[in-house]
Amino acid sequence: MAGAKEGDFAELVSPFLKRKLADIELKYGRGSAEWNVIALQYLRSPLENNVASSDRRRHYESELQIYHQGEPLHGVERLYKRTLLIEPTTACASHCRWCLRGQYPIKTLTKDDVKVIARYVGESPDCVDVDEVLITGGDPFMHPRLLRTTVEALGTYAPNVKTIRIGTRMPFQSPERINDELLSILVAATQRIEVAINVNHPLEFWDESTASLRRLLAVGARIYNQNPLLKGVNDHSSTLIELYDSLRNLEIESHYLFHAIPMAGMSHHRTSIAKGLHLAQRLCSSGTFSGRSKPRFALLTDIGKVVLYEGSILKRRPSDNSVLVQTGYRPEDRTRWNPSWSLPNSVEVDDHGFMTVWYRDGNDDTFDLTDYWGQPPAREPSTFGDTNVLPFAVA
Ligand code: SF4
Repeated sequence: MAGAKEGDFAELVSPFLKRKLADIELKYGRGSAEWNVIALQYLRSPLENNVASSDRRRHYESELQIYHQGEPLHGVERLYKRTLLIEPTTACASHCRWCLRGQYPIKTLTKDDVKVIARYVGESPDCVDVDEVLITGGDPFMHPRLLRTTVEALGTYAPNVKTIRIGTRMPFQSPERINDELLSILVAATQRIEVAINVNHPLEFWDESTASLRRLLAVGARIYNQNPLLKGVNDHSSTLIELYDSLRNLEIESHYLFHAIPMAGMSHHRTSIAKGLHLAQRLCSSGTFSGRSKPRFALLTDIGKVVLYEGSILKRRPSDNSVLVQTGYRPEDRTRWNPSWSLPNSVEVDDHGFMTVWYRDGNDDTFDLTDYWGQPPAREPSTFGDTNVLPFAVA
């Protein structure tokens, strides 16, 4: 979650990424395909002002709004039986324009807040099934001292937690922050540590990034990747195959390929679901790279992740370009795991008691990048193919 004030998701690009963008501009030219890979992810576009009144400003509502032994819980979410999510800080080193957290307010917990959460996880009857905690945000690596407190408090108060997952983009935004101080937190942890990275394009495996990933692996962290499908960044099978090949070579698991989520002002990043399914089929049935590195294509719906299979899409509503998606989630489970959860308007419960949920599709429209950046970019030849209009044909 990245830090917005009342929906104003400021542009924030780390010094490391600024240097990389300048290097790419020098080498390939502003507006080249290589430049677009990074610019589309991090530079604010005038297209973000295209917000419809029906657009969502938040992703799913799963925050726990309860007290533990008289103390309020802050920064905790729960959708699933085994996993609880803690957000120590919503700050990030850079703001990814398509991020689901972009519209959330900036918040950082206190050490006392974190200790209350850890006691809740270890003591509350609501948490008897919890054995995994996902520490996310924001980027937890932004605040090593708070991360240390969180990991230590879970070790002290919540022995039921066997696995701690930490979500970060730091290796690709500010790899120098993967330093000895930060690594010492992972070394000291008594739980299994898994690090979820989010890399979208093979271009992002800069030497500094790869070295920081190796440092994480060297202290015993397991690393997995989950990334969105982004228009003009990675919506080609050849790009994705190279990405998943690179991850395999680094011993990083490919977990999810997400359809980019529907968020206010970010529709220009979203392909159609059909295109995502087509790419997933190409990836998973091509024989061109290791079967051990194939991700699952999933939607982030209002009630959680849904991996699509035949029959998952029940019907289409053209009036708002939405599809009704079958899930295996039941409302009574959700309220048992999260007493403050309520049924979103987008949900219908089927005859068997499972939730179906309406989800906004994207589209495969093209747009001219001169509109995107609000100014004509300088044109230079590109090794990725000459493109100033995003190439949406499935390669
Ligand atoms: S670093 Fe993570 S949380 Fe922050 S904006 Fe990017 S994807 Fe979102």
